[in-house]
Amino acid sequence: MRFLITGAAGFLGAPLANNLVGDGHSVVGLDDLSTGDPQRLAPEVHLVRGDINDRPKLWTLLQDVDCVYHLAARVIVPESLLYPREYNLVNVSGTVTLMEAMRDVGVHRVIFTSSGSIYGNQRNQPLRESNRPNPRSPYAVSKLAAEYYIRTIGDLWGMETVCLRVFNAYGPSQRLPPSHAPVIPYCLKQALENGTIVIHGDGKQTRDYVYVDDAVNAMARAATAKGINRLIINVGSGKETSVIKIVQLVLQVTNMKPEIVYNQHHDSGPSRMCADLTLAKKKLGYTPNISLKEGLERTIQNDIRFQKKLL
Ligand code: NAD
Repeated sequence: MRFLITGAAGFLGAPLANNLVGDGHSVVGLDDLSTGDPQRLAPEVHLVRGDINDRPKLWTLLQDVDCVYHLAARVIVPESLLYPREYNLVNVSGTVTLMEAMRDVGVHRVIFTSSGSIYGNQRNQPLRESNRPNPRSPYAVSKLAAEYYIRTIGDLWGMETVCLRVFNAYGPSQRLPPSHAPVIPYCLKQALENGTIVIHGDGKQTRDYVYVDDAVNAMARAATAKGINRLIINVGSGKETSVIKIVQLVLQVTNMKPEIVYNQHHDSGPSRMCADLTLAKKKLGYTPNISLKEGLERTIQNDIRFQKKLL
């Protein structure tokens, strides 16, 4: 098949692109490289630098494409509180631009990487796709709005659409910005440097952490799965893990003893998040294979930044 992947040079886009070309598919990537790194990509992936809102460029890139994976987005939740307009422009308008261009060119299938963050705080766990969304950040709102646009425009123009609500993906090469770093690469870095790990809140807040290979496996399955048109499907590990547990596992796999301090007054987001994977199993045949401990070990082994710290 011929794929266009938006956000192809990103943390999830690159392993997805590499996986697809490894299976013999043809892949064109679009990325503005604002956070993406082209060096993550296999040479067979044809990467074009450009913006998701560049309609003429999309028209050209969409020629002869069978299926689009839409991943291009701004992705840092706390940053979205400061710059909601920017998040709306890229994540919502960018999605609408892509859908318009797909309609114009006649591409009939899109797989959207949505986010578990749209659930926000919910009374019951695990989180089912039928739960009423309760987004708590402009980022989460932007992903929810993009889901609605994709499903509605898809409906209007006869395009097949599926929205995969990915939970907290982690693995090698995950971005580690100086502020608002994701929990797992942050804890690994601090532990390997024998620094300080700051736990926000009481550390009992839980998330569903899914290893990147499992998430990519689910995404790849969505390209050929039957009977998923219009569906929203959770992609996670199906397990709930607290920040305290992450820190314990990080100490175990790194064999280091960093200082641990608590910042009790910081808002650490929804208190619990765990994906219900019933639909993913039924519709995609997806089962996560990599435990959190194994995923942390693989992250250290396959991430050059962490390898250097170990030497
Ligand atoms: P990422 O930042 O590594 O990837 C996003 C990519 O989009 C980057 O390569 C970036 O350069 C590109 N991009 C940003 N703005 C662009 C623009 N205007 N035009 C073209 N390209 C642009 O993040 P990621 O973690 O790989 O996330 C990929 C997708 O998966 C996003 O849509 C995100 O919302 C979704 N998602 C990720 C997670 C996760 O845990 N990583 C969880 C849920 C959903």
